[in-house]
Amino acid sequence: MPISNNNPAGPPDAARGALVWFRRDLRAFDHAALHHALRAGGPVHCVFVFDKPILAGLPRDDRRVAFLHASLAELAQELETLGGHLVVLHDDARDAIPALARQLNVAAVHAAEDYDPAAIARDSAVAAALQADGRTLHLHKDQVIFAKEEVLSRVGKPLSVFTPYKKSWLRRLEAEPEALAPWHVEPHAAAFAPGASPLPSLQDIGFAGADLAAVGIVPGMEGGAALFEAFQPHLADYGTARDYPELDATSRLSLHLRFGTVSIRHLVRTVMQLSARGQAGEGGATWLSELIWREFYQQILYFNPQVVEASFKPAYDRVAWETGAAADELFAAWCEGRTGFPLVDAAMVQLNTTGFMHNRLRMVTASFLCKDFGIDWRRGERYFALRLNDYELASNNGGWQWAASSGCDAQPFFRIFNPVTQSERFDKDGAFIRRYLPVLAALPSKQIHAPWLHGGVPGYPAPLVDHAEARQRTLERFEVVKGKA
Ligand code: FAD
Repeated sequence: MPISNNNPAGPPDAARGALVWFRRDLRAFDHAALHHALRAGGPVHCVFVFDKPILAGLPRDDRRVAFLHASLAELAQELETLGGHLVVLHDDARDAIPALARQLNVAAVHAAEDYDPAAIARDSAVAAALQADGRTLHLHKDQVIFAKEEVLSRVGKPLSVFTPYKKSWLRRLEAEPEALAPWHVEPHAAAFAPGASPLPSLQDIGFAGADLAAVGIVPGMEGGAALFEAFQPHLADYGTARDYPELDATSRLSLHLRFGTVSIRHLVRTVMQLSARGQAGEGGATWLSELIWREFYQQILYFNPQVVEASFKPAYDRVAWETGAAADELFAAWCEGRTGFPLVDAAMVQLNTTGFMHNRLRMVTASFLCKDFGIDWRRGERYFALRLNDYELASNNGGWQWAASSGCDAQPFFRIFNPVTQSERFDKDGAFIRRYLPVLAALPSKQIHAPWLHGGVPGYPAPLVDHAEARQRTLERFEVVKGKA
């Protein structure tokens, strides 16, 4: 990665200015790349690229693209009030960024670090092309509190178990509280370069748009701030309420964290301040733990990029998953929410109709696919990647490998969720099931978790497997990993 400018013939770096490349940091406050570019002193240009290789294959009504588009419109407006301008391109970023940097003749490009292996490869290609032109790509830590080698074991090794990672993360924060300080965006006179190119429409980039409001999503910084504001009074109850899908007890900030329409530093600072004032109860600490899980999985991906395709624990790639037409039929039934297990089916309908799924249900449905249907976690992971509004490789892969037991700090293979007892425990009255499976709405609470035991319901499938038998098959399937960590 080039780290210094190498263009002795041109004007000094500060006079040539910089290009800020927005990616998963779609906000105009507390922004590391903007902060550093502005501090360098020259005119600051701003760009976002709808990256063709990433968009390829997405459905025309993809909600994430619609969210991005609306968030960019807000960001463009915000930058304009600061005197700047956002150029939005539809191209391959590997070509577009070096070309724009050349056209503007900036000395440097600033962007936020991204730990996804594909993003790392893209950034290396961009850095090399910029370097060939005598320019520099500066990558800044922005979307996590601690990254890469910053949280290690006492002997300096990457950690693959969450509890020691969390302890080490908290120790580091105590030693370095400035890690929570905002990266101020303070434009001085003529700091931003103005411009006049319009934002391309969704149609221009091959998409039709999606009704975000219909699924309760408000995009952009405005949406992220409103969600966090609304969540704070519920923080104290988070620890006890977060496992019940029918309660609206979690923050729903995952989508905003994914695209950086909220600042992770602001979230962590706020929860710590509320905790210090005794206003966050036990829930504050639990919620902070979830934010640390997010960083845990990002550093797992950073140090172990092979997990994108392979089990974190290599022995688990010896597990023989079900394949062939029967497995394909089971997989289709799981995707479409017709397994005959109401909680699993309701959760899949939630995913298919809203793009969100509650965390407890992500665990239940993932476990069900791998351990009741015996289907490879990679197939389920890919389906979630297509459907989740908040899809993020590190957390999705981490969550799937946790459920399949192949992951770093995973559920042991012999711990197999029972989809009926999970339902009785976390959706006791069946309110969540009734919401997403109207065909079962009239059933009494006692019957809704396993309708087949009470004569079944016309229009709702009988269970496609017997859980006790499936459990036994899974224990046998996982025999190959016994004794192999
Ligand atoms: P809250 O409960 O309010 O938590 C706050 C934030 O902490 C979340 O927004 C998220 O950023 C982070 N977080 C919470 N739980 C986890 C976790 N287990 N792992 C990592 N980060 C966490 N999360 C994603 O953001 N994208 C994914 O693609 C994704 N896929 C998942 C797949 C599976 C199989 C599982 C089990 C979990 C997955 N998660 C994923 C984690 C978690 O389910 C979601 O982050 C959470 O449900 C989002 O809801 P929320 O914002 O209301 O979370």
